[in-house]
Amino acid sequence: MRPCTVTFNLAAARHNLAVVRSHVGDTRVIAVMKADAYGHGAVRLLPAFADADALAVSCIEEAMELRAAGARRPIVLLEGVFRADELELCALGEFWPAVHSEEQLRMLEAARLPRPLSVWLKLDTGMHRLGFDPARAEELVARLDACPAVLQVRVFSHLACADQTESPSTVAAIERFRTATDGLGRERSLANSGAILNWPQAHFDWVRAGLVLYGATPRDDRYGPDDGLRPVMTFTSELIAVRELAPGEPVGYGEAFRARERMRIGIVAVGYADGYPRHAPSGTPILVERRETQLVGRVAMDMLAVDITAIPWARVGSSVTMWGEGLPAERVTDIAGPYEIFCALGKRVHVRVV
Ligand code: PLP
Repeated sequence: MRPCTVTFNLAAARHNLAVVRSHVGDTRVIAVMKADAYGHGAVRLLPAFADADALAVSCIEEAMELRAAGARRPIVLLEGVFRADELELCALGEFWPAVHSEEQLRMLEAARLPRPLSVWLKLDTGMHRLGFDPARAEELVARLDACPAVLQVRVFSHLACADQTESPSTVAAIERFRTATDGLGRERSLANSGAILNWPQAHFDWVRAGLVLYGATPRDDRYGPDDGLRPVMTFTSELIAVRELAPGEPVGYGEAFRARERMRIGIVAVGYADGYPRHAPSGTPILVERRETQLVGRVAMDMLAVDITAIPWARVGSSVTMWGEGLPAERVTDIAGPYEIFCALGKRVHVRVV
């Protein structure tokens, strides 16, 4: 069996949810499980987040998968519905769709449902991605309240720079949200992972925790363990060949790396087809036999090379950790960030759950 394996640690996921609760007190927590739980497997992680107050996904297909797997909490649809006929499924499945556009609002106004549903009105407080002008909040809540299809209206927005501890635009966005929603008497949500950790004034009634639940931190210059988080995903493999390089000899495609002195090189059974980022440069950290060393040369489809000169006991069969326990994913790629590498695991990687 090819040794390339990903191990998911459900106890770590539970621990991370507890860390979130320790930051937000009585504020309710929505566990964001979109994109197959950030590449971890939504159904697989469901038991770990069963105690969250609600779950969130991007769209109804993802919500139905979680419901079919036994999810009992309400499920927020962060992008809302795309077609009017999804609204009936929302009502029946206790899915709480976002309402971010006139089109979605009109679908709700026209809907006649077997039972009314709860919705999240989305305001655009500065990210300029989805949502309405906050100045219209009162008028929009009134329109939604008047819909026979609507039972309850909550209000939310999303922050663009909450991962930064010093951010005038975040201060302004929180203020915009507060001003627009203070008089509405509705439950509110603004904070994602960055704001859970950095911006307590953005916690309001519900927080939406994504990345932190998987053990990584979005905070600049920090790694998950610095914030008390534990990695849920650990990506490992083994050395399948060992090479000696003389000074000046290259390794890998394009001869992108050449040895400056005599080197021992280990070839690892993992490549970009397994989810290791192809653009990771020489020097990217990686563990061999739990010792930190570096990637050298270009990442290939099935293999990559590492410097094992300083680990003379490394041999074929030695363990390699690409990220996870012992090496935070945030250290592996500045360009993609942990969000992207979590979501990119290849199909042939063996899966273990502990
Ligand atoms: N809320 C919304 C609307 C999102 O789109 C996301 C993720 O992108 C989140 C919350 C969770 O963000 P994070 O993973 O940074 O906690």
